[in-house]
Amino acid sequence: MIRVRDVYHAREQISDIVHVTPVLTSGQLSKHCGNQIFLKSEHLQRTGSFKIRGATNKVKQVVKEGASSVTAASSGNHGQAVAYIANRLNVPATIVVPTNASQCKINAIQKYNGKIIKCGTTSAERLPKAQKIAHQEMGVFIPPYDDPLIMAGQGTIGLEILEQIENVDVIIAPVGGGGLISGILTAVKEIKPSVKMIGVEPELANDTYLSLKNQEITAIPGTNTIADGLRTSQPGDLTFPILQKYLDDLILVKENEIKQALSFVMERMKQIIEPSSAVTIASVLFDKLPFKDKKVITVISGGNVDIQQINRLVVDTNF
Ligand SMILES: *Cc1c(COP(=O)(O)O)cnc(C)c1O
Repeated sequence: MIRVRDVYHAREQISDIVHVTPVLTSGQLSKHCGNQIFLKSEHLQRTGSFKIRGATNKVKQVVKEGASSVTAASSGNHGQAVAYIANRLNVPATIVVPTNASQCKINAIQKYNGKIIKCGTTSAERLPKAQKIAHQEMGVFIPPYDDPLIMAGQGTIGLEILEQIENVDVIIAPVGGGGLISGILTAVKEIKPSVKMIGVEPELANDTYLSLKNQEITAIPGTNTIADGLRTSQPGDLTFPILQKYLDDLILVKENEIKQALSFVMERMKQIIEPSSAVTIASVLFDKLPFKDKKVITVISGGNVDIQQINRLVVDTNF
């Protein structure tokens, strides 16, 4: 298991690349749920999501060890992050994306000089392809979450939260493969164990919920949740034990609740966030928090959403 010293080390490695993101507040959200709500704003992070934290920590290390190229399998934020940091370090990056990846995501990767390979529509097809390319090119495959350096990089958000907000009571973060939340758990629970931590998943991608309940890693079939960053079908071998050890609660949200939360944040807070981030706001808006009068930090994990597709996500809200 990674330890908090790994997270401190990650921060030293990535601080020249990664922004310390701002914390926003919302009076309306706070009043609505009877808690003080803060938003840790990784949608304002470099490349538009927190993924650059772990990617920078990992890619810097493999380049130091002599890697001459890197590959990743992701159409989304991890692919952009790996392409960005590889470009900064002058190492070629190949990103394997699904055949139906949106043009805006492909453009973002190409803007960072990432080479695009299209392959299949599932991660089960993309992963071996990316690993094979890495092997052929004597390069290194950069996993999206199940890797100690990736997890430690994401955990730097936890250090920032403890420093930016005095006396935080609760931290809420989305759960995909678990890299983000396992990193934050490691930092926060070692430094300040009294802080409660809650994960959020879409009902349609409840693999971690089921795994925690069954006390073993449990896979779900492919899912089409609009929270595309949370579509992983099972938690990681390295991330899951950390969730089992430390996570206080896991909340599920419905697709319509995610849409309403995203619409609320756009309309009221004037922030563009992506559905995977909106799950945390959905847990607040739909009264799923079993407490009041607490200082609550929600992690807004990213803001990369295809603007042309935004009308499919926005709905009327009556908050
Ligand atoms: C990747 C991602 C997540 C989930 O992170 P994991 O480390 O896979 O749990 C959440 N939100 C956004 C925006 C992401 O890109």
